[in-house]
Amino acid sequence: MSTIAANLQAVEAAIQSACDAAGRPRSTVQLLAVSKMFPPEAVLEAVDAGQRAFGENYLQEGVDKIAAVAKARPDLALEWHFIGPIQSNKTRPIAASFDWVHTVERLKIAQRLSEQRPPELGPLNICLQVNISGEATKSGVHPDELPELARAVAALPNLRLRGLMAIPEPQLDAALQRVPFARLRALAQAIVDDGIFVDTLSMGMSADLHAAVLEGASIVRVGSAIFGARHYE
Ligand SMILES: *Cc1c(COP(=O)(O)O)cnc(C)c1O
Repeated sequence: MSTIAANLQAVEAAIQSACDAAGRPRSTVQLLAVSKMFPPEAVLEAVDAGQRAFGENYLQEGVDKIAAVAKARPDLALEWHFIGPIQSNKTRPIAASFDWVHTVERLKIAQRLSEQRPPELGPLNICLQVNISGEATKSGVHPDELPELARAVAALPNLRLRGLMAIPEPQLDAALQRVPFARLRALAQAIVDDGIFVDTLSMGMSADLHAAVLEGASIVRVGSAIFGARHYE
């Protein structure tokens, strides 16, 4: 078995054990394999091990990888999620190449994605990124501004608002890891109470997926636990 296939099995076991601890069916949590900085060959290994949903952070790298993987496995339907920061002049290729975007934090970006989404692809699935740690430097909409943004994005024609996403501060303590995830869950509940459909909490990475699943994560975004350590130049 390849290393990636073995790692996927270990991550699968971790998700199953978190679901058991939370009393949730395994089917309520989707594993998003974050393949940023790994080549198409690594994605193909994961595909051959049964993985179908992949997350990318960098637009050009992601677009090139989507094309390379599609060429190698033309008959397979894969799901591609954009999970990186979005520059407003880069929305068109995101709208054309991806199935989901997890990192919408401004209405302007959502409007552009809606205008630029090719109609034949159907609505683009959207998560709003929330600045859950409250730091001025962090990405994401401030929780106070979230209800208004959610209402506006839900009204855009070529998008489908699905839920919320957050990247909390790294935290080693398992109990403390749950705090921001519980907060994101409460923010999503408030949106539902406001009469807006959302069904997705994108939260939890390699180091904190257990805590995220305990607090209701529906998509966990796992990179290094599947593909290995990333080497930034
Ligand atoms: C890189 C990244 C991940 C995966 O992180 P790991 O710690 O490697 O699991 C998840 N979400 C986002 C937004 C990322 O940028």
